[in-house]
Amino acid sequence: MIIKPRIRGFICVTAHPTGCAANVQEQIKVVRNRGPITNGPKRALVIGASMGYGLASRIACGFGSNAATVGVFFDRPASNGKTATAGWYNSVAFERAAHDKGLYARSIVGDAFSDELKAEVVKLIKQDLRTIDTFVYSLASPRRIHPRTGVIAKNFVKTIGDPFCSKALDTDKGKVTESRVEPATEEELQQTIEVMGGEDLEFWIEALETGGVLEPDATVLTYSYIGPEVTWPIYKNGTIGQAKEHLIRTTLSINDRLKRSGGRALVSVNKAEVTQSSSAIPVVPLYNSLLFRVMKEKGIHEGCIEQIDRLFRTKLYADTEVPVDEEGRIRIDDLEMRPDVQEEIVRRWPLVNSENLYTISDFGTYKAEFLKLFGFGLDGVDYEAEVDPEVNFDE
Ligand code: NAD
Repeated sequence: MIIKPRIRGFICVTAHPTGCAANVQEQIKVVRNRGPITNGPKRALVIGASMGYGLASRIACGFGSNAATVGVFFDRPASNGKTATAGWYNSVAFERAAHDKGLYARSIVGDAFSDELKAEVVKLIKQDLRTIDTFVYSLASPRRIHPRTGVIAKNFVKTIGDPFCSKALDTDKGKVTESRVEPATEEELQQTIEVMGGEDLEFWIEALETGGVLEPDATVLTYSYIGPEVTWPIYKNGTIGQAKEHLIRTTLSINDRLKRSGGRALVSVNKAEVTQSSSAIPVVPLYNSLLFRVMKEKGIHEGCIEQIDRLFRTKLYADTEVPVDEEGRIRIDDLEMRPDVQEEIVRRWPLVNSENLYTISDFGTYKAEFLKLFGFGLDGVDYEAEVDPEVNFDE
């Protein structure tokens, strides 16, 4: 079939297998061009490994330091004339590239929140790798079925306290609009913490330790975001921010435990990127469009792969002590948060409108990055050619 993008709101419901493979290859190239990451991961488990920061982490592990990787994600194959999800195509492409390089790579597709999937992962590690030395937790999910109670919690992107009105971007129409975000109820806040907070991370570490597959000196890595004041009511000070605080507290308490055996658990605060999850957060697409323009003008723009590669190379696996801020977090968002970058965004924020969206902000790059997530707009891919949507993992 000939596959074209079909966008519905914040999501593209089609994905292009050749384009996704090209996207994975581009990311592999970024890491390869920077040379090997010495003393990096050897056997890594990545949760949320098919898209965004998780995929970039898996690529940095595999192609930066030749690590064996197990990837966990929630994606579906092609069926009934529908394409697979982009994460499926990405992961097939990753595995093929890893196997071509002689690297171990296996993927487990399913609900990372469930006890069954955790047991399956532990079994696979025991059987094939014995242990892992690196655990990357990069989940972003709209909901979670609690593994012990069966209760479903949802991820609400809401404020706490007052409603929040702000400029925003209608990415479908390419227009600057107003968005109003309502405050969460206490129940909605608690549900968001259940989905995006640290309980599941705790359950993962418990399962890996009980199964005897976590090296005593392992590195556990989780991701968070802080961002600028314009997004604080909806992000840092909103429901997701609270959930992230919970994740950070959990990570730091796991760190206290692991460090007794030479291990460590760290939170990296990453830069805002266009990913499937972030495009659904109000205000973020407009902020990202401005951020991309300003960071490009300053020659410091980075995508997920450049961020994670730099995180591994210059912070996590450098020969020096890992630099953290006063709250114990690694700040790989340092370039995004540079005062000159943020001052320029603050200056442009009141000026941006539907007419100058492509000039004072970089909505063009935003749109291109969004389509790229689903394998569209990649150089060298013939989008008029027939392509088989059924692409499967090698046996
Ligand atoms: P993403 O949407 O690109 O990817 C999410 C991944 O989680 C996918 O692989 C998906 O398959 C997987 N997933 C979702 N639900 C699952 C489930 N139930 N079981 C198994 N896998 C599941 O997300 P992202 O934007 O890369 O976010 C990853 C992490 O990075 C999050 O912790 C996020 O807060 C953090 N982060 C993101 C940004 C950003 O701007 N995107 C910035 C800083 C930090």
